Amino acid sequence: VARADRALLLRLAASPHFEQAVKSLPEGGEAAWRFASRYVSGRSLGDALDATAGLLRRGHGVSVDLFGERVDDPAIADSVVEDYLALAAALPPTPADVWLSVDLSHLAMDAGVGRAARRLARVACALPHGRRLQVGAEDAAHTDKVLACIVEVAERGLADRLGGTLQANLLRSTTDVRTLIDAGVHIRLVKGAYLESVGAHPHGEATDVAYLRLAFQLFEGGAAWSMATHDGRLREALLLAGASVTVEQLLGVRPEVLDELRGRGVHTRVYLPYGPNWFRYWMRRVAESRRA
Ligand SMILES: Cc1cc2nc3c(=O)[nH]c(=O)nc-3n(C[C@H](O)[C@H](O)[C@H](O)COP(=O)(O)OP(=O)(O)OC[C@H]3O[C@@H](n4cnc5c(N)ncnc54)[C@H](O)[C@@H]3O)c2cc1C
Repeated sequence: VARADRALLLRLAASPHFEQAVKSLPEGGEAAWRFASRYVSGRSLGDALDATAGLLRRGHGVSVDLFGERVDDPAIADSVVEDYLALAAALPPTPADVWLSVDLSHLAMDAGVGRAARRLARVACALPHGRRLQVGAEDAAHTDKVLACIVEVAERGLADRLGGTLQANLLRSTTDVRTLIDAGVHIRLVKGAYLESVGAHPHGEATDVAYLRLAFQLFEGGAAWSMATHDGRLREALLLAGASVTVEQLLGVRPEVLDELRGRGVHTRVYLPYGPNWFRYWMRRVAESRRA
């Protein structure tokens, strides 16, 4: 039942009609927002900066994402770049441990990979040494384009400002891991948040085993990587095996674990999203919480 629930919610998360339907109900948008605000730092840059400061005070690193996906219009994508540049400029100065995150469909990747790569490079260039822009992994239909953008920007000498995300559920990740290691970017290992009809392990044991295998590949390949998961069994197995990597979690999911890890000297980072386009992200988190 939990798996069927999860799949249904993930389908709804991908449906623009469902979002419109909820938001058109009287008070629907505000009611949804009240639930979503557990996972989202707020709708404005100021909200994101306040939440960032709070996490830094508790000893956690942060990766701030201005929400958005599925942008087709290049002019909108250009304005998103300006918003990211304003965000980069507003962050507390280094050495505060604050990175940025972005999904490339928010930079209109579908309207042109080359132009999306140039937008990605502009934001990466704005970051001081020691900070990175982590690129999210989207559904498998976009993986080739996302990797192409990352490799192109890394080859411009920006590998040390970039991060990629590797999804353990995708069968192709056993080769994509090599592409990302060779590009020299930081790699965030996740289970994968999208429902895939082909080329993917089902959610559960098969994805978890793939996660462990990829983690060992990263470990042995000498990559700079982090484990982005709330799965305590995977995390502790990898820490016991000697992986001294950052543990990344999503805002609002198991925050008590973060503090406990920090107390044990494990480096932590919290993905902190903000902005008006929170609905689909929230639905994916609701789906994942069904097994909580
Ligand atoms: C920093 C970070 C970045 C990510 N970036 C991407 C990305 O770019 N692309 C992508 O496809 N996916 C991304 N993800 C999401 C990821 O792929 C998983 O979908 C998500 O993290 C849930 O998987 P899990 O590893 O926590 O394991 P699960 O097996 O789903 O969860 C393990 C346990 O964590 C708890 N838990 C998990 N989610 C919730 C929740 N929402 N509410 C309450 N408890 C919960 C439950 O106790 C659950 O039993 C990211 C995740 C993190 C942490």
